[in-house]
Amino acid sequence: MTQLRIPDLDGKAVLVTGASTGIGAAVALAFAAQGARVGLHFNSSVEAAETLAAEIVARQGRVTLIRADISTGAGAREAVAQAVRAFGGLDGLINNAGGMVRRVPYAEASEADYDEIMDLNARSVVVASQAAIPHLKAAGGGFIINTTSIAARNGASGGAGLYGSSKAFVHNVTRGMAKELISFGIRVNAVAPGVITTPFHERYSTEAQLKAQLATIPQGRLGTAEDCVGAYLFLASAVLSPYIIGQVIEVNGGQLMP
Ligand code: NAD
Repeated sequence: MTQLRIPDLDGKAVLVTGASTGIGAAVALAFAAQGARVGLHFNSSVEAAETLAAEIVARQGRVTLIRADISTGAGAREAVAQAVRAFGGLDGLINNAGGMVRRVPYAEASEADYDEIMDLNARSVVVASQAAIPHLKAAGGGFIINTTSIAARNGASGGAGLYGSSKAFVHNVTRGMAKELISFGIRVNAVAPGVITTPFHERYSTEAQLKAQLATIPQGRLGTAEDCVGAYLFLASAVLSPYIIGQVIEVNGGQLMP
C-alpha cells in the first residue's frame, strides 16, 4: 500500500479517531505514507499511540498526537479542535473510534449499557462530524469516512446487538450527512469491516466464537487491519472516488454480500 501513490492525499490534514491500535493505526500509517498530515487520536492507549507516532516520524511522516475521550460531546469536539489547532484547518475526518463495550443480550441490557454503547459509537460520530463540518467547508470541501461494521446489517453476533444497532445508526448518519454536505464538496462515506483481527476481538471474542465466524467467510481467513486500509484511501481521494456519495464499502472476505 505504501508504494501506491494517490495523487490528492499529499499534504491533506486528516484526523483519524481511535488510531492507536487496530484498523485506525493501519489507516493512520497509510495516510502518513501518502504525505497526509495525520491527527492520531487515542484515549487510553498512550504507549501504543506514542509508538505509532514515532514510527510515522521515522518514516518521514507528519503526525500529531491527540488525546480525548470521544464518547463525550466535549471530548469529540476537543479532538477536532486539537487537530485544527495543530494543522490550521482540516481536510478529512475518519470517525473510526468505537467498540462493543461488552457483550450483553438485548433482554439483559441496562439503560447504562445502552448509553455507553451509543455514546461511544453513535454520539461520537455525530458530534465529531458537527465539529469538523465548518472546517471542511472552510477548506472548500473534503471527506468524512465512518467506520461501521458488518454487525450493522446482520443483527450482530451473540450479545453484540446494541453495538450492531449503534453501527446501523452510523450507516444512516452516513447517508443523511452525505446528502446534506455534498453541495459543499464534502463527500461522506463509510467502511464496514467484517471480522478483523485487532485488539477488538482479543477483548470481546473467544477462540470458539472466532472459529465459528471463520467457518462463514468464503475467503477462508479472518481479515487484517491492512485489509481495510485500501477502502479508506479510495474513499478519501476525490480523484479515485469523486462520484461515490453516502455509500458503505463492505470489507469482509465475502462473509456478507448485501
Ligand atoms: P481497536 O480496539 O484496536 O480500536 C478501537 C479504537 O477506538 C482504539 O484506538 C481505542 O482507543 C478507540 N476508543 C475506544 N473507546 C474510546 C473512547 N472512549 N475515546 C476515544 N477513543 C476510544 O479495534 P478495531 O477493530 O481497530 O476497531 C476500530 C473500529 O472498527 C471500531 O469502530 C470498531 O467498532 C470497528 N469494527 C471492528 C471490527 C473488527 O472485527 N475488529 C469489525 C467491524 C467494525
